[in-house]
Amino acid sequence: MLEFIPVANPRAQYIAYRDEIQAAIERVLEGGHYILGEEEKQFEEEFAAFLGVQHCVGVANGTDAIAIALQAVGVAPGDEVITVSHSAVATTAAIEQVGARPVFADIDPLTRCIDPLKIPPLISSKTKALLPVHIYGQPAPMQEIMEIARRNSLKVIEDCAQAHSAEIEGKKVGSFGNAATFSFYPTKNLGAIGDGGAMVTNEPDVIAKARLLGQYGWKERYISSIAGMNSRLDELQAAILRVKLRYLTENNVRRREIARDYYNAIQEDRIIPPGKIAGTTHAMHLFVIESEERSELQSFLNGYGIGTAIHYPLAIHQQPAYQNRIRGGENLPQTERLYRRILSLPMYPELTGEQIARVCSALKEWSSKK
Ligand SMILES: *Cc1c(COP(=O)(O)O)cnc(C)c1O
Repeated sequence: MLEFIPVANPRAQYIAYRDEIQAAIERVLEGGHYILGEEEKQFEEEFAAFLGVQHCVGVANGTDAIAIALQAVGVAPGDEVITVSHSAVATTAAIEQVGARPVFADIDPLTRCIDPLKIPPLISSKTKALLPVHIYGQPAPMQEIMEIARRNSLKVIEDCAQAHSAEIEGKKVGSFGNAATFSFYPTKNLGAIGDGGAMVTNEPDVIAKARLLGQYGWKERYISSIAGMNSRLDELQAAILRVKLRYLTENNVRRREIARDYYNAIQEDRIIPPGKIAGTTHAMHLFVIESEERSELQSFLNGYGIGTAIHYPLAIHQQPAYQNRIRGGENLPQTERLYRRILSLPMYPELTGEQIARVCSALKEWSSKK
């Protein structure tokens, strides 16, 4: 019996750093300070330095990070935020959580990120911000997006939940917009063992407001100066993230090595691999291929004990909660085309040589079978 290869495997990463993670947990437990202590403070500093940004605030999850970032840059109820329907639902949910209105722009089929050419026709007098998503770890075209924002006086928030340490011309994503958000959900490139998130920015007023919003609007303890929420990164998760942050760069390199093997195994007439975008460094959160025969390919791979997944089965504008009510949702041909074809292959740094070889030989065999 072949051992099944899952699409993601957060436990394998725990095992890889078990001693350090357990030591970090022990340190927190013994320290007796479980919320907003030294680990959280250190993590914020280390993560900001890693990204090359001025400020970081830890929050409870990636969805809250987006909601807090939106409010911190001044998005108010009724404002429109232009984003994509090709993302985790979290992106749109966060916009609505703050009373703003998502507007969907179509994607570029090569990057699978927002198509900058589709943004200007959607800008209205209510548009306040752009919210590009670096989907699957591929950076969105930030230079073009920032230029559109500048010309139209819009704020930009980068959703980096899938793109920790992805780069454009050597500059990490999360350092381009007015603010950027990260999720540390266990399967992300930098994953906690539970929920976690962060918002980063170079702007002093944005970090100041984000810190207030994340803890009941407290400027001083128990005194709310603005109406906020409770969204904090706890000490246990911060301590675990500090361990894993030290390995993020090498783990992303490993992901790209695995991707290179997959690219080499793929015959492009039957499977379309992720587009290679000059000047960008992909975080390879997910390796998503496209196929006209997706379900056949999925069962073929399953026969070799290879797990696959579809990220996501439906675009946001196709889901019951959002259908027929988001502006722009009626005109997303590239998004809809992609959703009929996408399939995610196993991708995580702890994949073994044998497992990678098995995926590659199955991909080759599929391509040669006509
Ligand atoms: C995971 C994810 C989020 C949300 O993160 P949570 O921590 O689960 O709230 C937001 N956007 C994208 C693109 C994601 O992949």
